[in-house]
Amino acid sequence: MTERLPPEGVPRAAALLREGALVAFPTETVYGLGADARSGQAVAAIFEAKGRPHFNPLILHFPEPAAAFEEVVPDERAHALAARFWPGPLTLVLPRRRNSRVDLLAGAGLDTLAVRVPAHPLALALLREAATPVAAPSANRSGGVSPTTAEHVLDGLSGRIAAVLDGGPCAVGVESTVLDLTGAGAVLLRPGGVTAAAIEAVIGPIGRPIPVEAAEATRTLRSPGMMLSHYAPALPVRLAAGEVGLEEGLLAFGPPLPGAAVTWNLSPSGDTVEAAARLFSGLRWLDAEGARRGLKGIAAMPVPVEGLGEAINDRLRRAAAPR
Ligand code: AMP
Ligand code: MG
Repeated sequence: MTERLPPEGVPRAAALLREGALVAFPTETVYGLGADARSGQAVAAIFEAKGRPHFNPLILHFPEPAAAFEEVVPDERAHALAARFWPGPLTLVLPRRRNSRVDLLAGAGLDTLAVRVPAHPLALALLREAATPVAAPSANRSGGVSPTTAEHVLDGLSGRIAAVLDGGPCAVGVESTVLDLTGAGAVLLRPGGVTAAAIEAVIGPIGRPIPVEAAEATRTLRSPGMMLSHYAPALPVRLAAGEVGLEEGLLAFGPPLPGAAVTWNLSPSGDTVEAAARLFSGLRWLDAEGARRGLKGIAAMPVPVEGLGEAINDRLRRAAAPR
């Protein structure tokens, strides 16, 4: 059962978030599907509820700039844009702080995080009360239309999430502008509620993203701003492993194969939500252990294509693709 909470339900909604439950809430753009970003399990539940077949980095929501800048490292441009447009429909991609509390899954394993302060009184009240970074993509099933009313949210997600905080229709209806500030030149990753011209009036000319095919052709894919959903370990990954070599680390799922130099078990019980929550931390850990022990690769056991298994397999295939 999904609770439909009135505006006075903010304390209840915040308590649910802090327990790791999913709560949809209104922003000035669309309804977001929120989870406590410190919890890998809660973030994994977002992908499960939406039925997303892949993991992409989520936008983190905060009640004020200072809270956002506890998780990322702002530069002068970020401070100027935050002062001008927050609260508002502008998302800034910035380097993740080393001590950030945000779970790796929320940022799809990247070293950057996307942050914003939404301009909606209920969203701000909820974020203040929850006192935790809240990861929130749009509150619709994968492939569906972004919801601008609580009714839309329930149409797609009723029974799949704990609650929706009903704040009436959203004002903007288009998503936030996403601006990458991780490189020397700012890059517009997604047009949205704040125009490029308005941004340029504050920080000067900004770039448009290079289409992925062109970037691949010129091998600039790994330059800042083009890393989106391309986190992969440095060690080569071997898929659907049925045995482990002496010089391989094992990414296990369920009962682990014997003989690995080191093992990271995604989920000993074979639970795909737990496995999703442990995927990026596992790849990073195996990479670090690999460098320490001189391993040659990572052997990944098969993960069934059910629940979040589809998204896990998608990410493992990308990690295993020739680079
Ligand atoms: P949505 O989940 O629909 O709110 O979309 C989130 C948007 O933010 C997508 O366009 C993502 O590509 C973008 N985004 C989130 N985090 C990052 C990041 N670390 N680097 C680049 N883009 C990001
Ligand atoms: Mg969406």
